[in-house]
Amino acid sequence: MNEVLGHKVQLAYLEGSVKAGDLHHSYLFFGKPNIGKSMVGFWFARLLLCEQTVTSDKRHETRKGYETGPCGKCHSCEAFGLGQNPDFIHIKDNGEVISIEEIREVREALSLSPRFGGYKVCLIENFNRATREAQNAFLKTLEEPEVKTVIVLTVSDKALVSDTISSRCRLLGFGVAANAQVEVYLAENGASKETAREIAYFSCGRVGLALKLLEQKESLEEKIALVGEITGSLSLQKRFFAASKISAGEDVEEFLDIWLLELRQDFKKNKKIIQKILAVKENLRTNANKKLMLENLLLSV
Ligand SMILES: [Zn+2]
Repeated sequence: MNEVLGHKVQLAYLEGSVKAGDLHHSYLFFGKPNIGKSMVGFWFARLLLCEQTVTSDKRHETRKGYETGPCGKCHSCEAFGLGQNPDFIHIKDNGEVISIEEIREVREALSLSPRFGGYKVCLIENFNRATREAQNAFLKTLEEPEVKTVIVLTVSDKALVSDTISSRCRLLGFGVAANAQVEVYLAENGASKETAREIAYFSCGRVGLALKLLEQKESLEEKIALVGEITGSLSLQKRFFAASKISAGEDVEEFLDIWLLELRQDFKKNKKIIQKILAVKENLRTNANKKLMLENLLLSV
């Protein structure tokens, strides 16, 4: 899946910066979770590392064949296709904190010369997962960047990283896509009409989430069923069980979003519980006890 849905302005901006050689050493992509920030970051990395990309950088000027986007055929693009481009350092969001050791490894990897002669690019998803020590250690990288290094950090909210970090980055905001757009996109990527419509509805314009739900269609159905049970009549014991089951997963926020969608169909009647869920969502960001919060929430509805 090489195409990126939406975010035309951001893509054009990044492509323009590459062509004009007007690159900053670090970028902070911000916007709601799962709307495609990492997809754009990944595309940007492929473009920067593509051997066919012409930038105003002298070393690339003689290269031909550039039309738009990464070529998909050169050594670098091929290595990307295999998930093994040595010039690309990718810290995916695995739900865990980013330790100072990990940041040290990133710094070391960035200090090595590029294999394909261009840049080294580092993409760190949800950088707010980094511990305070890790963020401080990374500050050095942002303050004294290696030449030919481009760093992309993503966060769901700018306020989640310190000003010292964000002030050293070029900021790029991301919004959600229209549901209809997501639906067409999913259909183009192999989903049936019905599935595409259902997933587009539940993902609320968040492309990354839509793709995740498409991959794990069963887990979406499970969540919808669970929401159905909770909004129906669930015994106290079952509610505790549901709370521990949900909090054990990585996607508590996704579950709450699905629940919110259901409740919003009758906003007047459900106003109170909607407010409670929104408060829990807000608290999830500070490392509060997920299970306890969910138990309290499920017992109060
Ligand atoms: Zn290429």
